[in-house]
Amino acid sequence: MDETLHPTEAGESEDKTVPRDNRELDVERIRRDFPMLQRRMNGLPLVYLDSAATSQKPQVMIDRMRALYAEEYAKVEEGHSLSKHATQVFEEVRAKVARLINAAEPREIIFTRGSTEALNLISRAFERSRLGPGDEVLITMAEHASNAIPWQMACEDSGATLRVVPVTASGEIDLARFEQLLGPRTRIVAVSHVSNVTGTVFPVKRMTELAHARGIPVLVDGAQAVPHMPVDVRDIGCDFYAGSGHKMGGPSSVGFLYGVASKLEELPVADGGSTMAQTLSFEKIQPKPLPHKYEAGEPAFGEVVAWGPAIDYWMDLGLERIAAYEKALTEYATGKLLAIPGVRVLGEGTERIAVLSFTVEGVPPTEVEKELDRRGIAARAGELDAEPLLKALGVDMAVRASFMFYNTHEEADALAEAVAEIARLH
Ligand code: PMP
Repeated sequence: MDETLHPTEAGESEDKTVPRDNRELDVERIRRDFPMLQRRMNGLPLVYLDSAATSQKPQVMIDRMRALYAEEYAKVEEGHSLSKHATQVFEEVRAKVARLINAAEPREIIFTRGSTEALNLISRAFERSRLGPGDEVLITMAEHASNAIPWQMACEDSGATLRVVPVTASGEIDLARFEQLLGPRTRIVAVSHVSNVTGTVFPVKRMTELAHARGIPVLVDGAQAVPHMPVDVRDIGCDFYAGSGHKMGGPSSVGFLYGVASKLEELPVADGGSTMAQTLSFEKIQPKPLPHKYEAGEPAFGEVVAWGPAIDYWMDLGLERIAAYEKALTEYATGKLLAIPGVRVLGEGTERIAVLSFTVEGVPPTEVEKELDRRGIAARAGELDAEPLLKALGVDMAVRASFMFYNTHEEADALAEAVAEIARLH
């Protein structure tokens, strides 16, 4: 292939718009790399506080997407030169994701449309092979719908029973109850790494140790963890881990499933179709080796490849530095909001990162959302796909402000000023 016409991932990561060595993040400079952050909303400079839903996108990702479709587009599969190149750049990103989460091998990464699809792949594979009447699936009260409903479906269809670990009054997983609920018929534990409501970091390593001591596999939903903190799947020790690329600078529909190779190998396929089987024979399904066995049909080629430079961008900043910055910013914003009479922050006092949900006494959360929107602040209100957790915390709905390293302390001030005004006016 003509190298000048077809830049590789490695070439692109040489974009040095981001400081590598400074201890402090240069947030103003970073913000210039995210075009959406320059726009206005309702006539005011946009304050984007909805990164837990989906992140804004760096220019390097947008450029990669354009170049791919303009100059490199072909089917990902061995064959002619264009396909060989497509396969190469696609597989480079697989290796990058493996490095990002410290997987042992790239073939342990399965590309999906997001965390939801990854979680469904595992629930379907378990339903097909591991679940029956009398078996149990253990989730927690803190799960997002994406890690609850697939397991409800698997239990409904297999006759297995769904067990739910309660949370404490501050939104921590009740570890003592967790341990009690690990039973002889528990077939899998499925738990989120970071809450999409409170930003609480759950003790998934400890939970994995407790489950493994009883021979029970563990699936971790890392949708809210991967973009915000270093994740080391081998240190956690879990069997499966799901993540969302679109929450980490990637295009709108990309994510991954990680699985320990031997565990993925022993599970049956979840989806059938082209590219996942060795051959089509009506006598027997013959899946390809990992990772192809779990990637039926045309992959999200453009989305995966364009996610690559965004991963580089995050890794160049450093996940440790990102975590430290976002944790401090979340704490700062929490302090500001708690100083406003009538404001309650959910999950306060737990180890939290990047996500901040709150209520304002006497003002419905959807009204707060509307008022923030009028002031140019994009936050989210509602059930947040986590009704059971909200109920356990004593509310039906909440307002959620979620942060990324491109948010500033001034934006946290703007949020607090707006909330104070909304509280006063109601
Ligand atoms: N799990 C959690 C904890 C989430 O916050 C989300 C997204 N809000 C998901 C799963 C679903 O992720 P995706 O949108 O990538 O399917």
